[in-house]
Amino acid sequence: MKMSKKIVVDKELCKGHDNGRCVQIAPEVFDTRGEYPKVVDTEELDDEKIQRLIKNCPSEAIKVIEE
Ligand code: SF4
Repeated sequence: MKMSKKIVVDKELCKGHDNGRCVQIAPEVFDTRGEYPKVVDTEELDDEKIQRLIKNCPSEAIKVIEE
């Protein structure tokens, strides 16, 4: 079975900076209707984009989970 990586936003750490740098990098991944971006679709996420999201989050709120 293929391992796929998913990400989650840690609500405790996320500060919702400027509507989220994460949202600017990968708008297709997040639902922004709540107080913090919620991950809704990680189908299109490759490793490079995941690394960009992690590096650009000032609060280190984006975590990778493997399934
Ligand atoms: S970049 Fe990080 S802190 Fe900012 S909204 Fe996204 S997850 Fe939250």
